[in-house]
Amino acid sequence: MSVQTKVYEGKAKILYTTDDPEILLADFKDDATAFNAQKRGSIQGKGNINNSISSKLFQQLEAYGIKTHYIDSPGPNQMRVKALKILPLEVVVRNIAAGSLCKQTGLALGTVLKQPLVEFYYKNDELGDPLLTGDRLFLLELATPEQVDTITHLALQINNFLCDFFRRCDITLVDFKLEFGLDSQQQLLLADEISPDTCRLWDNSAQSDPNLRVLDKDRFRQDLGNVENAYQEVLQRVLKAVESN
Ligand code: UDP
Repeated sequence: MSVQTKVYEGKAKILYTTDDPEILLADFKDDATAFNAQKRGSIQGKGNINNSISSKLFQQLEAYGIKTHYIDSPGPNQMRVKALKILPLEVVVRNIAAGSLCKQTGLALGTVLKQPLVEFYYKNDELGDPLLTGDRLFLLELATPEQVDTITHLALQINNFLCDFFRRCDITLVDFKLEFGLDSQQQLLLADEISPDTCRLWDNSAQSDPNLRVLDKDRFRQDLGNVENAYQEVLQRVLKAVESN
């Protein structure tokens, strides 16, 4: 076996090479950051939980017909993925107003959007991941118009699937972030992770309480406590929904 080389270390994952140049190994960390890494901490067991949730969701999405980078999960914190050229875009889908949408538009937290909103942010920490206009996205050549169309279509399909899946978990999918990459055949695949770090998830049985209902990274961002319990709760419900399929 060849020595694994670190190819990239992000805020939540480390990527290593494998014997196969087409395959990378992602190691999910317990580290947590928020507000462009100004707030740092650790959520015990997060790496394992997020890897498990992401793996299950990628498997479910593959079965639904969405192509992803997921191959398998050889260890508790490990996911083998296809090596992709990741587009420097954060694709956010929103069903309910929260977070930066409320801050930037004045919409009240919890406003149900008439239709899902797909937004593109520039994945660039130095610039603070700014919201892009279509023209700025093309000006910077971050993706082609065809790729933007394909990504928008895929993001809405993924949203349909995930909304339905989380409904079966008694959870409302408020919003989430996706990343996409190109494989060696220039095919667009869903990449990164889908977890309580990258989604806003509200517990339907506690909807009336704005603190109790939060089952995602907002518990860490807003110091709401019980972060590990919330992530664990999401995993248990995801596993149950997959089993009952
Ligand atoms: N999000 C993410 N990574 C980021 C920014 C946002 O995973 O770098 C997710 C976030 O968890 C939420 C959604 O994308 O589910 C929308 O985030 P928003 O734009 O409201 O930003 P925030 O309030 O997190 O600053």
